[in-house]
Amino acid sequence: MSKLLDELRTAVGAANVLADGDLSAWELDWRKRYRGRALAVVRPATTAEVAAVVTACAAQGTGIVPQGGNTGLVGGSVPDASGTQVLLSLTRMNRVRQVDEANFTMTVDAGCVLQALQETAASHGLLFPLSLAAEGSCTIGGNLAANAGGTQVLRYGNARELCLGLEVVTAAGEVWDGLAGLRKDNTGYDLRDLFIGSEGTLGIITGATLKLYPQPAAKMTALAALPTLDAAVQLLQRAQRRLGAGLTGFEVMGRFALDLVRTHFPQLAQPLPPAPWTVLLEQSDAESEAHARGLFESLLESALEDGVIDDAALAESLEQSKAMWHLRESIPLAQAEEGLNIKHDISLPVSRIPAFVAATDAALLAAFPGARLVNFGHLGDGNLHYNLQAPAGVAAADFLREHEAAVNRLVYDAVSAHAGSISAEHGIGQLKREELVHRKSPAAMSMMRAIKAALDPANLMNPGRLL
Ligand code: FAD
Repeated sequence: MSKLLDELRTAVGAANVLADGDLSAWELDWRKRYRGRALAVVRPATTAEVAAVVTACAAQGTGIVPQGGNTGLVGGSVPDASGTQVLLSLTRMNRVRQVDEANFTMTVDAGCVLQALQETAASHGLLFPLSLAAEGSCTIGGNLAANAGGTQVLRYGNARELCLGLEVVTAAGEVWDGLAGLRKDNTGYDLRDLFIGSEGTLGIITGATLKLYPQPAAKMTALAALPTLDAAVQLLQRAQRRLGAGLTGFEVMGRFALDLVRTHFPQLAQPLPPAPWTVLLEQSDAESEAHARGLFESLLESALEDGVIDDAALAESLEQSKAMWHLRESIPLAQAEEGLNIKHDISLPVSRIPAFVAATDAALLAAFPGARLVNFGHLGDGNLHYNLQAPAGVAAADFLREHEAAVNRLVYDAVSAHAGSISAEHGIGQLKREELVHRKSPAAMSMMRAIKAALDPANLMNPGRLL
């Protein structure tokens, strides 16, 4: 192994190969559920350096775990406990290579932090719409490897739909340059789409060409209080019909989810009193503030008159709008403060969500009396974060050890019964690898295994994740 470490030092410089000391920033995942041990943390700065690292590791049969911001929620970005895998951190690759205003694209290194890319686009008067609560530390390479969703999928799509091309270092150490930025290219299999969502199991993403959009002329944000989840689905339909592509956000928050924010972040003002359900709506308008306000107010007034919503608060300034988003984005953090929990990132046809939640809530409470259900998510995309916290007063670690498998089975059986997916946007990683085999058809699994065997025959790219 010391031969490999020497080769890695030659490839990226000795200062960028960390083999001793406290490596927990790379070895422990964001949820603190997976702690591994790396042979070394290797920090290349260029695509050529990544290719040299992959070539050296491949020659020794050493597995590579790519990592961006290490904010993934399924244990995909940390090494296993064997001490034999190389942790390849992409964060030194943080260059914006080109902004092409006429093509509405930017080409960037994989290690660029998402928020920095939003700011780069804004500095050109343009919008890069991918947005999620981890945007201050997650990287675009990680977003693409996990096919991240976030809060504007309803209008702009997920990471896959925002990417026109990739640069990838393959498992053989070759560089594939697919960065041309074409909106049309029907020249065979779509290699870009293979790597997006592959969670580092097929190759290392080193660069990407991303789609940009015009900045909206105005944005309106509101919170609405609703009596039922069925009413939230009705409000979504109304908003889609009235606002069309102008509806850029539609987030739902259950009462207990916002109660956790009240408890752990009392400094965050909640403009509406507690309600069974609260929805955050956002409209982006290409015309003007007056146009946006007219449409938005009439949508909310008619929903109030018809009893679809009970109350609403409209943000009157950018600060108020940010504060509303901050509330929504604080839910995962409040959950983490409350203690270990069981997360389900699921998607369902929107029309089936109220029935799914009613039936599954009842079944969970019957099987696990006192369990606290934290339900929130991107209702506009049919994506719920349908999570469960141990009963009050019960040690969370004990509850998870005894009941996590049974809770998951109950929830995922219900998801399957309602034609949903067990992973909407967080991926599979280590967390859902066993579950995937039960939920995907044998035909789908054998095609995925064949792709993996063709592109990574020695199983060195993020081994033990996803498949
Ligand atoms: P990492 O965590 O480092 O890695 C994620 C996966 O990608 C791993 O399997 C890793 O091996 C692989 N990978 C990383 N970089 C590369 C690369 N360059 N090439 C190949 N493989 C690579 N996700 C959503 O979709 N929507 C949300 O709304 C959302 N909200 C979140 C909120 C919080 C508070 C947190 C902590 C996470 C949230 N996430 C959300 C999870 C989300 O998947 C990640 O935040 C983000 O997409 C991962 O980026 P990262 O750079 O941190 O990747």
